[in-house]
Amino acid sequence: MTRKTSRRRFLAAAAATTGAALAARSIPAWARPAPQAQVAVTPQLSVFGYSQVQLLDSPFRRQFDQNHDLFLHLDEDAMLKPFRQREGMAAPGPDMGGWYDNADDFTPMENFHAFIPGHSFGQYLSGLARAYAVTGSKPTQEKIHRLVTGYAKTVDPAGKFYEDYRLPAYTFDKTCCGLIDAHQFAADPDALQVLWSSTQAVLPHLPEKALSRPEQRARPHKDIAYTFDETYTLPENFFLAYQRSGDSRYRDLAVRFIEKEYFDPLANNQNVLPGEHAYSHVNALSSAMQAYLVLGDEKYLRAATNGFRMVEEQSYATGGWGPDEAFVVPGTGALDASLGFTHSSFETICGCYGHFKITRYLLRVTGDSRYGDSMERVLYNTIGGALPLLADGTTFYYSDYNNSAKKVHYRDKWPCCSGTFPQLTADYGISTYLQSKDGIYVNLFLPSRVSWQQNSTPVTLTQTTEYPARNTSQFEFKLAKAETFTVYVRIPAWAGPKSVLSVNGRAVEKELTPGKFLALQRTWKDGDRMDLELHMPLRLESIEEQSPNTVALIYGPTALFGAGEMPERITRQQLLAATAAAPSSEDWTVKTDAASLTLRPFSSIMSEPYRLYQRVES
Ligand SMILES: [Zn+2]
Repeated sequence: MTRKTSRRRFLAAAAATTGAALAARSIPAWARPAPQAQVAVTPQLSVFGYSQVQLLDSPFRRQFDQNHDLFLHLDEDAMLKPFRQREGMAAPGPDMGGWYDNADDFTPMENFHAFIPGHSFGQYLSGLARAYAVTGSKPTQEKIHRLVTGYAKTVDPAGKFYEDYRLPAYTFDKTCCGLIDAHQFAADPDALQVLWSSTQAVLPHLPEKALSRPEQRARPHKDIAYTFDETYTLPENFFLAYQRSGDSRYRDLAVRFIEKEYFDPLANNQNVLPGEHAYSHVNALSSAMQAYLVLGDEKYLRAATNGFRMVEEQSYATGGWGPDEAFVVPGTGALDASLGFTHSSFETICGCYGHFKITRYLLRVTGDSRYGDSMERVLYNTIGGALPLLADGTTFYYSDYNNSAKKVHYRDKWPCCSGTFPQLTADYGISTYLQSKDGIYVNLFLPSRVSWQQNSTPVTLTQTTEYPARNTSQFEFKLAKAETFTVYVRIPAWAGPKSVLSVNGRAVEKELTPGKFLALQRTWKDGDRMDLELHMPLRLESIEEQSPNTVALIYGPTALFGAGEMPERITRQQLLAATAAAPSSEDWTVKTDAASLTLRPFSSIMSEPYRLYQRVES
C-alpha cells in the first residue's frame, strides 16, 4: 500500500468515526479523576470531552488529521531509541534526527543535533491520546499502549536516563503530561504506574525548588545549555497527576516547584516578564491556574490574570509575542525595533499551545469573552498559517514579522514545536465550545458539531461557517425534545454596530455588546436555527504606544499582511480604504500614490516576501 493510499484510507476512516456515535463513548470508571483528590475551586465553565466536539472539514480539521496521521505512522523503535540507548538496552530502528537523538555532537548555540534526547516523546504520546479521544481510532489507542509498555521497560529507578542530561525537568514535564493523557484519554491501564516510576527516576536529578534561568546560571554548570531547564513549568502537570491518581505526593511536588519569585510579584501587578523566556513563562501561568484551582489561593489567579494581560500588552497585531523568544521591556519601543533585527518574531506552535491553555483556564474561571477574542486572534493569524509538519520532523517554528519577512520551515528537525503541534491541533475542538450549568458557550467560529446532554435531553449543535473569510456563522439544533437552556455567543470586542444575531430568521431584540457573550435563554426545539452576522470593520492597530505610525491593517479578527513589493509611501487613509480584491480570494487591494499593494491573511501567504507592519506618516 503506498503512503498516499494509506493516508486516504486513514482520512476516510477518521471521517467515518466522527459524529454522534462518538459522543456516547465513555471513559471507564477507573480512568476518571481520583475521588480522594481535593480540588478547592470548580470553574464556572467546563471543557467538553474530546469526543463531544467534532471539527468538520476546514483547514483546522485538516491540520488535526495530518498531525494524527503523521504520529500514528511514526516508527515506534525510533521514538523509544534515546530512552533505550541511555539505559544501555538494545536500541533497534532508525534515529529520528534533530533535537531528538542521543548523540554527543551537540554544541551550544551552534549545533542543535541531539540537544535534548527524547524530549518530546511525552508530547507525541499526549497528541496521540487526545487524537484517540477525538476520533476513537483503535490503531491509535493500540499504538499508545505499545509506546507506554515500551517506555516503561526503559524506566530505571536509578534514573540512568537523566544522568548528565541537560534539561531533566523539561523532558520529564512532557513525559508526565503524555502519561497522564494516555491514562485519561486512551484508558491505558499502566500509564499511572509508569508515571510514578518515572517520577522517582527524575527526582534525584531535579533541584530542591523551581529555579529561574539566572539562578541556574549562578550554579556550577557544564555549559550554557545546562542552565536552560524549566522546573518552573512542572506544577501544572504535577497538580494534574494528583487529580488523576489521588496521590498527595504529586500535590506536594507541585507545591515544591511553584516559582514564588515569579508569581508573587505578578500577583501584585509587578511586571517581571521582561527578559524572561517567552513560551515557558506563558506556560508557567497555567501552573498558577492549577495552583489556584487545587489550593484555592486567589493570589495565583491574580498572578495568571495579570501575567497574561502583560503578555497581551506586548503582543503583535497577530496575537503573537516574544521576539527572539523573550519578553521585552514595555514602553521602550522594543517591539517596533524587533521588526528591524529579528526574523524569530513568535515561537508559533509552542506559543499557541501555551496561549490556548492559559486562555482556556482564564475563560473557564472568569467567563470573560476577551480570552476567546485572544484565542481567535492567534488561531487565524499565526497557527492557521503554519506550514505543515513533515514526516521527517521538518516543522514550522517562528512566525516572521520582520520588515522583510518570509515563511519558512525551521532549521532543526523534531524541535519543541513538533511536540506541541499534535497537542494543539487536538485541542481545537475543546476550545470551540464550553459548558456551563445553564447551557453552552459558543467561543470560536469553526465548522464543528458538539453533542451533549442538557437536563438529560441529548442535544446536537452544528455550526457551518467559512469565518473569518466570510462574516457569518449558521447554527442548527437537534434535540430529542424541547428544552430550556442558554446559548452564550461570543461577540468579539471589534464587532461593529451592524452585527446581527437571529433565531429562525428573526433578529433577536437583545443588544449585541462587543466584548461580551450574548446570552440567549429560550426553549430550544429540534430544527431551530441561529444565524450570526458579524460586522467586520477595517481598522489600524499600532505596534505600541511609542510607535503610533507603525501600523497593521486588521479586518475583523484577521491581520492583513502586505505581500510582494512594498510601496515607498503609504497613508492611513489609503490603508483604511482597502477593498476586497475578488469574491474568490481573501486578498485586499490598497491604492497608493505610486501603485497598488496587495494584502492577505497569514494563511494565504506562500513563499512571497511579506510585511505585517506598514509605516505611515503621522
Ligand atoms: Zn517550540
